[in-house]
Amino acid sequence: MRSRTLPALLALLLLLPAGCQKAPEPTELTTFAMDTMMSFTLYGEEAQTDAVLAWIPTQLGALEAELSATREDSDIFRIDRAEGQPVEVRACVSELLSDTLELCRITDGALDITAYPAVKAWGFTTGEHRVPDEEELAELAAKIDYTAVGWDGPAVTLPAGMELDVGAVAKGYAGDLLAETVRSKDISSALLDLGQSTIVAIGTKPGGKPWRIGIRDPAGESYLAVVELTDMSLGTSGGYQRYFEEDGEVYWHILDPDTAAPARSGLASVTVVAPSALLCDGLSTALFVMGLEEGSQFWRDHPELEFDALFITEEGQILCTAGLEGRASLAEGYEDREVTVLR
Ligand code: ADP
Ligand code: MG
Repeated sequence: MRSRTLPALLALLLLLPAGCQKAPEPTELTTFAMDTMMSFTLYGEEAQTDAVLAWIPTQLGALEAELSATREDSDIFRIDRAEGQPVEVRACVSELLSDTLELCRITDGALDITAYPAVKAWGFTTGEHRVPDEEELAELAAKIDYTAVGWDGPAVTLPAGMELDVGAVAKGYAGDLLAETVRSKDISSALLDLGQSTIVAIGTKPGGKPWRIGIRDPAGESYLAVVELTDMSLGTSGGYQRYFEEDGEVYWHILDPDTAAPARSGLASVTVVAPSALLCDGLSTALFVMGLEEGSQFWRDHPELEFDALFITEEGQILCTAGLEGRASLAEGYEDREVTVLR
């Protein structure tokens, strides 16, 4: 009897302190910015001041004012209306454009910031959706060409008749900037959710476990997989995020720059995991355009970008690159699905 109660008592004693410890309280903030709901969870003493909550919407507001293609005071708006004249942009816009143009180059134009007139023609900027005819699409596609963007220090030149927007990377860029500020405030545990599946994980959860991020089933409402992140960013692009239906046909907001029409590559979503949220955001859009074959070859060809990807095809096939093995798992209810590891 004695020998059995003693270990039980010891186990209880060992459990007690942990059970009695209060879980740390997060500081939380939800705000609407860049057309989407964003939520922020920050842990630690440094996070528990009002000032911490205040700077997030301020920084986001400032970014939006500079990056929005529809706000008349933004640098992007000025570039789009300059009729071929050089426009001097603020330092942060200059930095973002330089990084994004580099991504356009690396992805061989699968990401192309000059797709904006096509995005507008489909009505994705206003919600007044329409399907342009073949002739209009051919004209729009002929004008999509990021190589025509002149970037010289803070001066940007865009040929008359072209327009650009940074919608495909803005949330990622914002995530990187906010993460920098969070880290500079000595906050070592935080989750920045910039909406539409752009996420930055700072450190781990309190207690040392990685942050767990659910990946949506493009064909349903639930989470299909879970990705574990520690000091890492994640971005998902999917046809299900923004789309409209007409005559039984679904049209989504990610366009193939070659056709100016929704990219139909056989993929339903692409998730990219990498240190930089800007890279996650831009690459998820680009890989969605490329499709599985080309996208996985791109991953093999670019180890220097230090990213991994999880592809979900329209048929429901799930594939992830080797670096996600052990970091990505199937969610509850999806355990019977197969995950193919790409190497
Ligand atoms: P979300 O904005 O929903 O997170 P993405 O990051 O995938 O989605 O970016 C899609 C946005 O980028 C579109 O709304 C459009 O403004 C723009 N866009 C669409 N296709 C492309 C493309 N091939 N290259 C660059 N930008 C694109
Ligand atoms: Mg994107």
